[in-house]
Amino acid sequence: MADGTEDGTSGPVPFFTQARTFEALWPDIRSRLAEVFDDGKFSHGRQVARFEEALARWTGARYAVGVNSGTDALVLLLRACGLQPGDEVIVPAFTFVASASSVVLAGGRPVFADIDPVTYTIDPKSAADVVTSRTRMIMPVHLFCQMADMVPLLDLARRYQLTVVEDSAEAIGMRWDGAHAGLLGAGGVLSFFPTKTLGAIGDAGAILTDDRQLAETAAALRHHGRYGRTLAHFPGISNETTVNGVNSKMDDIQASVLLAKLTRLHEDIARRARLAAAYTERMAGTPGVLRLPTVVPRIARTDPVFYVYLVEVERRDELAVYLAGHGVGTEAYYPVPLHLQQCFAHLGYRRGDFPHAERACERTIALPLYPDMSVDDVDKVCALVRRFATRGPA
Ligand SMILES: *Cc1c(COP(=O)(O)O)cnc(C)c1O
Repeated sequence: MADGTEDGTSGPVPFFTQARTFEALWPDIRSRLAEVFDDGKFSHGRQVARFEEALARWTGARYAVGVNSGTDALVLLLRACGLQPGDEVIVPAFTFVASASSVVLAGGRPVFADIDPVTYTIDPKSAADVVTSRTRMIMPVHLFCQMADMVPLLDLARRYQLTVVEDSAEAIGMRWDGAHAGLLGAGGVLSFFPTKTLGAIGDAGAILTDDRQLAETAAALRHHGRYGRTLAHFPGISNETTVNGVNSKMDDIQASVLLAKLTRLHEDIARRARLAAAYTERMAGTPGVLRLPTVVPRIARTDPVFYVYLVEVERRDELAVYLAGHGVGTEAYYPVPLHLQQCFAHLGYRRGDFPHAERACERTIALPLYPDMSVDDVDKVCALVRRFATRGPA
């Protein structure tokens, strides 16, 4: 794919689009969809089994269990890990709401911890401060471009015998010392929401784990509690229902699209890295920009993946309006810290409890970053951010 648009100028830059990606992949997707229609099986069929096998190979997970969304993957993984009513799960206060609502939906109680102000991932010291006798699990969330600091988090988990459940919904391709995100503890999840690094054309998700029993339980929970039936990894097991499951099967149309996109995921990730590097080069020294994404060296070798290009700026909301006025889409990831969300009001937190999370919510803005973009698009966005800063208050 060329780095510039045909005429060398740049039009509007939406926050996300994959029109060009789909144009390029359409012949492959169409023939895969034709197979689905030939099979006549649109849910939990052959394409889903194929995708689970391909995803397991791509990530190195022993098991990949396809489900309806990343959120369902979290709920089912927590349940499969044996979360009991009232059990506490430590979750960072700065993340997508599903990280914590999944804990509530699985019958547990989220307990929040603050984040590291540079990486935006859970601060292991803050996590250690909130351990109680009821803590059963800890949920590191890998956000934007890098994984949470897993060495101290795994130490903490060992010390208090906590199960580690990774919210790796954004983290496809991220690795820690060679291990794919989601495979450092009991298991992790992936989201294939359309804007994610590997996006479907609707909702879909998966559970990754190396633990056979956990995979079997999760696979049963997604399918009314039935063990077996066309599971990629467990063919021919009985239909006996031993647990109350839900219906969170993956559909074969999503699986077909995901199979097609998986063939170019390495390229897409490399392109994201190039666009992120272009942003960082052009944004350096821009007045009003307080922080650029910083991949922090860890004890282990880590492989970052740019899912979101998140910057911290002064007058964030004004900048968003200004950019929108010039055809550039942005998003606030995430505008409200979880301890101040209304759905968690019963947990009794107050403003000021997690200052780093609160500051991140006020100052961060995600700029467009996706394989369909060109470096010209990055130039346009960066020039506008610079112009905003130097033109003074509105
Ligand atoms: C996207 C996301 C989810 C939820 O995934 P869905 O597929 O949208 O349900 C959960 N956690 C994080 C951190 C996410 O980014």
